[in-house]
Amino acid sequence: MAEEPVGGAEGTEDEEFGSCCAELKEAMSGKEFDPLIAVGEDGILYMSVGLIDIEGEEPGMVDHPVFFCPFCGTELQARDELRQDGDGNT
Ligand SMILES: [Zn+2]
Repeated sequence: MAEEPVGGAEGTEDEEFGSCCAELKEAMSGKEFDPLIAVGEDGILYMSVGLIDIEGEEPGMVDHPVFFCPFCGTELQARDELRQDGDGNT
């Protein structure tokens, strides 16, 4: 018997974000503006909430993970998924 646990953290879920409503999809793929909502390299959806001034460097964006779609309220990702830092994965 081979029981495979369902729901692995692997796989690209880029297309998962933005599928809930046209507003989010548009906000993520803006062509006439720089999207403030984007999927990070870790596959987590982030939203820029402001600018930060770092001395000697260019202003940077402050990002926060988005758990719910700001437009329609759909849950995009679970908080628990963010708790896994990926270190010590034996
Ligand atoms: Zn939405």
